[in-house]
Amino acid sequence: MDQTLKYQSIMPSRTSKMQTLKNLIENNRRWASSRVKSDADFFKRLAHIQKPRYLWIGCSDSRVPANDIVGLLPGELFVHRNVANVVVHTDLNCLSVIQYAVDVLKIQDIIVCGHYGCGGVRAAMQKTSLGLIDNWLRHVQDVARTHQHTLAAIKDHHKRCDKLCELNVREQMRNVCETTIVQDAWERKQKLAVHAWIYNLHDGLIRDLELSVSKNHPRQSR
Ligand code: ZN
Repeated sequence: MDQTLKYQSIMPSRTSKMQTLKNLIENNRRWASSRVKSDADFFKRLAHIQKPRYLWIGCSDSRVPANDIVGLLPGELFVHRNVANVVVHTDLNCLSVIQYAVDVLKIQDIIVCGHYGCGGVRAAMQKTSLGLIDNWLRHVQDVARTHQHTLAAIKDHHKRCDKLCELNVREQMRNVCETTIVQDAWERKQKLAVHAWIYNLHDGLIRDLELSVSKNHPRQSR
């Protein structure tokens, strides 16, 4: 498609843009009304308390909507998303979410879910410059450097990107395990497991990378 036409089709004029936002509010009205129709106390219950069992740490990618792809309703999944599902030891935003989820909500499972075809992972691998976000994606480049021999052995570019998507999930899951929050929870024998999953945009299916950890594990050197 011609780039100009493509741009126009996704960036409507101001009037139609407002119309689009109005549509979102209308969608919301329909959604709320259908919820109440199937469960009259749905919102009353949710307004009172949230008791999610799971914490989801995933990518911000609009094609990977956490609740939808695992079929959970509002109130059932505590969610943190950022570009390329990165867990950084000093990221107070992510750490606060994990701390609140583990210490206050007492969630039992933390799921780090990446996805194949991740634009953040691809940009990190190709060292594409996209602006400020380059700094964030340095964390994914660190993962690539840690596993450079594994990645270098894969000749096909797409397969190499997919492998980095998997390795990134693995490393971010490890970062979750090594937070003081999770380590302390395991220390006091709180029931808590951490999982690494990856989602496939092409078929909508999640694959468990089978790396789950549910008890204190020794810190591993790289
Ligand atoms: Zn992504």
